[in-house]
Amino acid sequence: MPFTPLHTGFAYLLYKLSRGKANLLAIIIGSMIIDIECPIVYILSGFSYTHSIMHSIIFGICVGTLLTTLTVIIVSRVNFLRGILEVFILIKDSSLDIVVASSVAGSASHLLLDIFTHFYGLPFLWPVVCMGITATTYETCIAVNVVSAILTLWLIIDILRGKLKTEA
Ligand SMILES: [Zn+2]
Repeated sequence: MPFTPLHTGFAYLLYKLSRGKANLLAIIIGSMIIDIECPIVYILSGFSYTHSIMHSIIFGICVGTLLTTLTVIIVSRVNFLRGILEVFILIKDSSLDIVVASSVAGSASHLLLDIFTHFYGLPFLWPVVCMGITATTYETCIAVNVVSAILTLWLIIDILRGKLKTEA
């Protein structure tokens, strides 16, 4: 996905499909946190090809879930951070298994969307298969980006309407 925040739209769709059982904060953070490697790889290497091992299933889901779960735990326990976020969404105190499951769903959705939006391929199956894998065409890439933008708009509208202050 060229623009990381557009991943939140599909995360919101997954949250809605869970009928509110998922942890919204975990699924949203999980849908974006994998791209944390992009600025790090760029700064360290200077390469424009910034999708590295965090975009493999094993590292993406394991490390993404770990980072997301830690972030959700910290945010929900630090009153200052929680207060800022609760201006927009209700921070639900979910059990650890719900937070982990939501983090996995968010991270997995990130990888799935990226494989349909990156022509140069991702190290999706690393370390089993080292070559980049893509499943996109120009049309698929445009379609996935348009749907992502619409879903993200849905999330933004629900936030602006204050709907997630009570529902999440
Ligand atoms: Zn990515």
